[in-house]
Amino acid sequence: MNIQAQLQHTLKNIKKASNLFLGYPISKDFDYAPLFEFLKYPINNVGDPFINSTYKVQTHEMEREVIEFFADLFRANANDYWGYITNGGSESNLYGLYIARELYPKAMVYYSESTHYSVKKNIHLLNIPGIVIRSQENGEIDYEDLQNTLQYNRHKPAIILSNFGTTMKEAKDDISKIKGILRKLAIQDHYIHCDGALSGTYGAFLNDRIPYDITDGADSISISGHKFIGSPIPCGVVITKRSLRDRVSKGVSYIGSLDTTITGSRNGHSVLFLWYAIKHMGVDGLKARYKHSLEVAEYCKTRLCEHGIKAWSNGGSITVVLPKTSEALKDKWQLATEDDVTHLICMPNVTKQHIDAFVEDLIREKKTEPVLV
Ligand SMILES: *Cc1c(COP(=O)(O)O)cnc(C)c1O
Repeated sequence: MNIQAQLQHTLKNIKKASNLFLGYPISKDFDYAPLFEFLKYPINNVGDPFINSTYKVQTHEMEREVIEFFADLFRANANDYWGYITNGGSESNLYGLYIARELYPKAMVYYSESTHYSVKKNIHLLNIPGIVIRSQENGEIDYEDLQNTLQYNRHKPAIILSNFGTTMKEAKDDISKIKGILRKLAIQDHYIHCDGALSGTYGAFLNDRIPYDITDGADSISISGHKFIGSPIPCGVVITKRSLRDRVSKGVSYIGSLDTTITGSRNGHSVLFLWYAIKHMGVDGLKARYKHSLEVAEYCKTRLCEHGIKAWSNGGSITVVLPKTSEALKDKWQLATEDDVTHLICMPNVTKQHIDAFVEDLIREKKTEPVLV
């Protein structure tokens, strides 16, 4: 195949795969075409976004605006926040855990068994001893198990990895309950990182609020930019307190900046996407996206239950959990499946028509007719 043909072939496959897509938390309803010109430049946000670096082909100013937007959404202290745009939620988690370890080198990290796989790898990379805590049936951390485990180790500082939207069931751990346990056991040296990859972006809009943000007691929060907001390039955000990041910063004269980030060179284009998105959506736009997703999730649950499928979701969650589907359906709709459950995630681009099409497939299957691909 020549170059042109190969590109066409790949594009065709991507378009097709992108059409039938209900299982992963990826928004597809974006149009960043007005930013096309920027692809002609080697944008690199190397260094700390809040410090003027010697390298000028960058989008630091926009990065600071994005950070300010999320710091505000996560109710950080306006005089004590910091953050940067990462390559995704995994790097954001690594950053939170990195600060935690720098603050408390002798700490143990506690995380539930529903925690994303990136966390286990991160704590391995950081060489922090960790303990897995049981999850409840709905995917939320088992607070009793957390308390008992902390009690045995109360002589050590504690790092808690709290989930705000687990990968499979979109369960949300309650930071105020976690804080309550730490208080009861008088563990003063503690750090809480909130992994809000998907749900962190709309956590502020839940009808029945679940404590998760900086005011609630998190020391850092991570989200993925390509999930709820949507981006052609994976990206993420990490928000923490300036006073905490000051503990890990080191000056580097070669770039004329502080080496406060995990990677050296950093993607300056994804910053543009996130900036463009929040400028267009604003808080109200994000709220509207969440409301739409929630409605579609409710619709999805109702339709599935009508057909005798035991579908459910956690409160305020846009992820619908159902018993494991057949391989054919899983394949066609790219449904993530783990143990005995499958999930559908009603991202902002998912409509009731998509749900209807999926339900139709289920009905055909029940009648033992083959799924149409
Ligand atoms: C997706 C996800 C991550 C990882 O985010 P990436 O952006 O893919 O690196 C971490 N935690 C949870 C709960 C996730 O769902």
